[in-house]
Amino acid sequence: MKKIKYYSFCTKDTRNFNSIFYHHNDGKFLLRECYFDLLCKKCGKFDEIKSIKRGLAECDIHEKKVDMFGTEEGLICVSKRLKSILENAGVKHLDYYFAPSARAAEYFIIIPTRAIPVNKQCYQFTKKCNICGRYESVNGWPSSLEMELPQEPLAICIPDIPNEKPSGLYFDYMASEDVIKLLKAEKITGVQAVRIYP
Ligand SMILES: [Zn+2]
Repeated sequence: MKKIKYYSFCTKDTRNFNSIFYHHNDGKFLLRECYFDLLCKKCGKFDEIKSIKRGLAECDIHEKKVDMFGTEEGLICVSKRLKSILENAGVKHLDYYFAPSARAAEYFIIIPTRAIPVNKQCYQFTKKCNICGRYESVNGWPSSLEMELPQEPLAICIPDIPNEKPSGLYFDYMASEDVIKLLKAEKITGVQAVRIYP
């Protein structure tokens, strides 16, 4: 059987600064105080996933028209319209979290719950924090040829080892060809997709 093609699922740049956890204050880029309780006292990282799951405070998002965009944290946000297109098409294993912002239209952060096992040897880990257990940075180049990507038409997933920058984790979203085709047919704006699977 022919293998399903996958794409690296990214967003186009927008002119706006969009952030979930941080805000600008006097020219500084600061973490919102409501997340201070989730900060590691040693390495300074904070638990992004926990904060998203417990409900977000006001976000610094400015988008009003685009269907899909990335935040400073590397998270993908989708419009209400795109959320219902994905749900109606039956794209499963996605969590949606409302990202409240007075300046933006209604957007949702998407986090795939399906994580594909990757080869740990393709990753570089630096400085593990002995308090929270996270690494200062994690950089991976897992081969898509080694990944068992879902063989169903409509799927969005991530590798099971997320990358980390010193500023926090970020996901490499992957989407099947039919998801990309669906978004094209629906004239979804803000999508950038690069083929990763032969
Ligand atoms: Zn730590």
